[in-house]
Amino acid sequence: MVFRASVLTLYPEMFPGPLGLSLAGRALERGDWSLEACQIREHGIGRHRTVDDTPAGGSPGMVLRPDVLAAAIDAASPEGDTRPRLLMSPRGRPLRQGEVRDLAAGEGVVIVCGRFEGVDERVIEARGLREVSIGDYILSGGEMAALVLLDAAVRLLPGVMGNAQSGQTESFENDLLEHPHYTRPAVWEGRAIPAVLQSGHHGAVEAWRRAEAERLTAERRPDLLRR
Ligand code: SAH
Repeated sequence: MVFRASVLTLYPEMFPGPLGLSLAGRALERGDWSLEACQIREHGIGRHRTVDDTPAGGSPGMVLRPDVLAAAIDAASPEGDTRPRLLMSPRGRPLRQGEVRDLAAGEGVVIVCGRFEGVDERVIEARGLREVSIGDYILSGGEMAALVLLDAAVRLLPGVMGNAQSGQTESFENDLLEHPHYTRPAVWEGRAIPAVLQSGHHGAVEAWRRAEAERLTAERRPDLLRR
């Protein structure tokens, strides 16, 4: 089963973008996952292929029309498609590693990228879109958020990450931040690598890493420890 991503956007040129390079890009070329960028405007209204209109109740900005978006969603994800449908949105539940892992274990995703002030609320309800945020700040569109989500998911697909081991102690696995890393030279600008890492004592190294992970998490992300 290949992980299939369909992204609905007004800027399909933004895909695969950075996901065409490095690990994700090679996996895409190998066919370990697929990416389809669908132009919402193809479902726009009239000669100008209009996709947006002014907000009901009045306020600045524009809102993506529900009929246009629904037509785009139905074309990209016809009945019987069981992939989750996500809407990138600052109002969504903040994306976490656990959800990324669940998504990567599935068949793929359909991702709607908002623009302007956002999308008409009715299409969120009618097409069962799950709103997902990548953080408490406002982007100008959902595309970069979709790239972030896909990058996080694709690197978890079997065979994509060179060293499968490196996933297990990574930050947010076990609700901990990762321990610090060191590499050669052994002394750099007068700073030595912690002696325990050079001791060759596997148990001591593990204990040190665990303690460092807990110390950093307590210091920087006490919210993770409370979970
Ligand atoms: N008026 C909206 C913001 C619209 S920003 C509000 O105040 O909530 C335009 C689009 O960018 C959104 O529809 C969404 O698709 C995307 N976007 C912006 N910030 C985002 C974030 N933090 N996470 C995910 N998507 C985001």
